[in-house]
Amino acid sequence: MLTKRSYIDGVNPEAELLREGAEWLRAGELVAFPTETVYGLGANALDASACAKIYEAKGRPQDNPLIVHVCNRAMADSLVAFWTPEAELCVQHFWPGPLTLVMSKTTKLPEIVTAGLVNVAIRMPSHPVALRLIEETGLPIAAPSANLSGKPSPTSGSHVWRDMKGKIPLILDSGTCLVGLESTVLDVSGGIPTILRPGGISREQLEEVLGEVQVDAPSETQAPKAPGMKYRHYAPKGEMILMMGSPERIIQRMGREIQKGHARLKKVGVLCSLEVAPFLHNQFPELLFVLGSKNRPEEIASNLFEGLRLCDERGMDLILAEGVEERGLGTAIMNRLQKASGKLTLNI
Ligand code: AMP
Ligand code: MG
Repeated sequence: MLTKRSYIDGVNPEAELLREGAEWLRAGELVAFPTETVYGLGANALDASACAKIYEAKGRPQDNPLIVHVCNRAMADSLVAFWTPEAELCVQHFWPGPLTLVMSKTTKLPEIVTAGLVNVAIRMPSHPVALRLIEETGLPIAAPSANLSGKPSPTSGSHVWRDMKGKIPLILDSGTCLVGLESTVLDVSGGIPTILRPGGISREQLEEVLGEVQVDAPSETQAPKAPGMKYRHYAPKGEMILMMGSPERIIQRMGREIQKGHARLKKVGVLCSLEVAPFLHNQFPELLFVLGSKNRPEEIASNLFEGLRLCDERGMDLILAEGVEERGLGTAIMNRLQKASGKLTLNI
């Protein structure tokens, strides 16, 4: 399939490009588009065969349900059986934005969207292109991240191009995404609100509005409530070691690990903070990627997936990554880093 990559204005999206995107979506085809979190791979959520194309293009396991994107409350109403008070509060405070709400679904949605679950995951994105595209289409849009399954989520049009070229008719490209991490997935279908996936809205932010919020602890015996969480997402090809500690200790230990890696003839990539990076230059890692300042987790979040992708593209065999404090957005950053490293964490 011929893939068209159209550059679209992220603030005032061009009407003819939105029309073209909407036409493909209404015709049951896939369109990749930017959101404030990561790029989405969209399909008409009410069309089972359009949604099946998402699984095919991504190589996504069939039991991993899709997040449905809406542009207004009325559209969400048509998909939700009932709104709990917690769900209402979330809508008031966090929509549009990087929060996905898991709620009881109506029968309007095909089974494939929710992978047979009784609940549906819904989000109203804040990115003008995403909102206007859904509006123009007039349909709820199922859209997981627009990457091949197992790769980091795409945070730029170039990432989508590399993963989806030849598989979909249209990519709307407006450069890099602001948040750079996926949305928080919150179960507000009843009982204590439960975070199924940490993301762009932190537990602390949710607790301010909702009071008690719990985090779903994946268990060995029970199926996870968010089926996607059981897969080893975002994993680079090389071995990855995640390091936690003060900048001084990180500098020392990374220096040693770079040397050890080189002695084993490994190409070594480093993902670290602005505070650590200058002290590692003279150790000559093959890739030294600055994620951002330790004082600005938003910066680290927005650069993380680019860094992970670069490690793969440049063929790093060993990746040394510096962790962040698990607080606020840091919790979501650490969740993605831990998944990428397969839980290989060194506390130093
Ligand atoms: P992605 O769209 O690739 O960022 O992944 C969507 C995430 O939301 C996955 O972890 C899914 O398992 C989760 N999810 C989607 N729909 C539901 C649902 N109905 N119930 C629980 N989790 C869901
Ligand atoms: Mg994804």
